[in-house]
Amino acid sequence: MSADAPKSTRTAAAPRRAAPPLTLETQLKFLKGVGPRLGELLAQRGLQTVEDLLYYLPFRYEDRSHLKTIQMLAPGETATVMAEIRLVNRMRTRRGMSLLQATAFDGSGTLHCTWFHADYLKDKLKSGQKVALYGRVERERGALAMRQPEIEWMQEGEADEELQSLKLGRVVPVYEALGMLTSGRIRLMVARALENLPSRLPDVLPARVAAALGLPDRRFAFEQAHFPGGDVSMAHLMERRTPAQIRLIMEELFFLQAGLEIKRRKALRQQGLVLEVNAHIRNRLKQILPFHPTGDQKSALREIVDDLRSGHPMRRLLQGDVGSGKTIVALEAAVIAIENGFQVALMAPTQILAEQHFFSARQSLPQYRLALVTSATRQSRKRSLSPDLAPPLLSAPGLPSSEPQLAIGTQALLEGSFQFSNLGLVIVDEQHRFGVLQRLQLMQKGGLPAHVLVMTATPIPRTLALSLYGDLDVSVIHERPPGRQPITTRVLPENRSSELYEFVRKQLRLGRQAYFVYPLVEESEVLDLKPALKMAAILKSIFQEFEVGLLHGRLSADEKSAIMSRFRENKIQVLVSTTVIEVGMDVPNASTMVIEEAERFGIAQLHQLRGRVGRPRPSRPGDPRNMPQRSYCFLVHGAEVSDLARRRLEALEKTENGFELAELDLRLRGPGEFFGTRQSGMPTLQVADPIRDQELMEVARQQARDFLDQANARENFDLVKHLQARWQRRYGLVEVG
Ligand code: ADP
Ligand code: MG
Repeated sequence: MSADAPKSTRTAAAPRRAAPPLTLETQLKFLKGVGPRLGELLAQRGLQTVEDLLYYLPFRYEDRSHLKTIQMLAPGETATVMAEIRLVNRMRTRRGMSLLQATAFDGSGTLHCTWFHADYLKDKLKSGQKVALYGRVERERGALAMRQPEIEWMQEGEADEELQSLKLGRVVPVYEALGMLTSGRIRLMVARALENLPSRLPDVLPARVAAALGLPDRRFAFEQAHFPGGDVSMAHLMERRTPAQIRLIMEELFFLQAGLEIKRRKALRQQGLVLEVNAHIRNRLKQILPFHPTGDQKSALREIVDDLRSGHPMRRLLQGDVGSGKTIVALEAAVIAIENGFQVALMAPTQILAEQHFFSARQSLPQYRLALVTSATRQSRKRSLSPDLAPPLLSAPGLPSSEPQLAIGTQALLEGSFQFSNLGLVIVDEQHRFGVLQRLQLMQKGGLPAHVLVMTATPIPRTLALSLYGDLDVSVIHERPPGRQPITTRVLPENRSSELYEFVRKQLRLGRQAYFVYPLVEESEVLDLKPALKMAAILKSIFQEFEVGLLHGRLSADEKSAIMSRFRENKIQVLVSTTVIEVGMDVPNASTMVIEEAERFGIAQLHQLRGRVGRPRPSRPGDPRNMPQRSYCFLVHGAEVSDLARRRLEALEKTENGFELAELDLRLRGPGEFFGTRQSGMPTLQVADPIRDQELMEVARQQARDFLDQANARENFDLVKHLQARWQRRYGLVEVG
């Protein structure tokens, strides 16, 4: 640094007073150049400490060590070039879209760049600026061009050497911007943090595990994951398979799996209620079954019975596609618990679904006291308590006859005002809508930990099941019950609606019923019901000879159930609905599902909706309607649907296999969206990706198990302490320890 430099560069300037040494726990706001305001912004994004920042890995890397000149570019390749901006030109297309054009020049040639919807760039992009451009090279009217290239300013803030050396002549990390924090600034923060951390960082992974997997040292891993050395392959980097990246992924997965495994083992050691299954109970079970169970239903029940008798609390996930017949298996488990003198709670995610369960339970279990507990019934105190018809075979110690034997409800079941005196079994339906926390809350309502059965219709790929439900045993129902009607699915533009209505009319004339579903994103928000209202009016005029009903989230609980029961009794033939019917509705006479603006739904949700038709119909001997009949699902989309959205819809035309569809949906949308991020109970992973890292997840699970098998008291203690300190907040592994 020369003495007459106008501004001292940070790298070389000696600090006036020694800054406190940086550790991984240092709050980011104390990092040089951050401060309280940025610190707050980072904290909002979940980055509080230096360690959090180091786990914020680049989403992409650019190889700027062998930069090409513009002249060397070939159409078709994706490349980075360093150039100077010349000639910026703003314009609008005929359809009013704003467009920014610029020429980039690097001494060897010129590159034409175009950005669409580029208002965000208009004040920043100026002639004379040095930039790095990243994008696909094309040839347009004889000239080299890039459309919508990513842009990095080469003179951001003060153009100092430190910054330059991070951006040039190397493999450069590119980060997802955090609000106003650009990739370049994040890169600088990471570099500063690494520079100021001690040269050895305490390892968190047990040495045994790191050694077994041949993982590199932690400090090395952070450095190389952010600023890879020249010898790593770009392909490995992009696939997150360099040793450094694998190390950081394994860290995360190991602790996740260790936490789940500790939970699982703890449950296994716990004392549980021992439930008996004797001949009487077997008879009762036979009575409630209106049909022969499938092989999968039988073996799921067998596994459940084994759990219930084991003396340890059951923690079981019952997984099966929409319509695979989980409900009846759950009700069988309920009968066993009730006949042993215990109470059962069945929790569903929505009021409609709770009511649906309540109605079907009242039909198949008329001999028990049932209660419906939703926020709507809570005030009026446990409405719908059926009379005591038959005492359980085994006497219930201390269960007053005023208390329900089976309480079916929503989250209202969790509230303090609702008490169980003798809870033996908790059944949670459609679990992915609830968090792990709620599951625990309900379990702890009884005295001894109750048995827990979680049902999910989301066919979760195995690794995701491992990370979400790693503490649970799993039973899977693969086969569909017999008598399911095949469903024909068609994707259709909305301008063919009149044909569609004629088709639906034919179905209605055959005595069948139809659903019309409208997307409303948030049922709870103040929302625009107009489209659904309007549609109901239109359909009323089209299907004059039939009854059309409208169901939406703003109706009162009573209004909703009134409409649902009229639909169930076929007093309404066409049900117009927002997505409240998504789960659990079981009206076998409904043969047609029309989903409007289908492009706004995810694949998994569409699959769930479609599963409302094609249901097996109760057979009456000699009834010609016993013949399996086709059901139909129409996915109607607007004129402006994107290619990607249409492809998603077409995936549903091709398969009815929920498993395949779920995998596809996960790939397209990522796990967060797939499960509905907030209440999903899905741990948010920072570094690992449950789809990309399937095999690593398996390895981590095995390692966690081996480690716990061999760990001495000290090692166990350290592990639990680490989990409690860092991972509890993130994964809600609440009862660890
Ligand atoms: P899920 O909850 O898994 O989506 P349900 O339990 O609602 O599925 O079952 C779907 C339909 O199949 C229901 O109408 C149910 O009565 C019927 N069903 C379930 N098991 C059988 C079986 N073994 N044989 C015939 N029908 C069945
Ligand atoms: Mg169900």
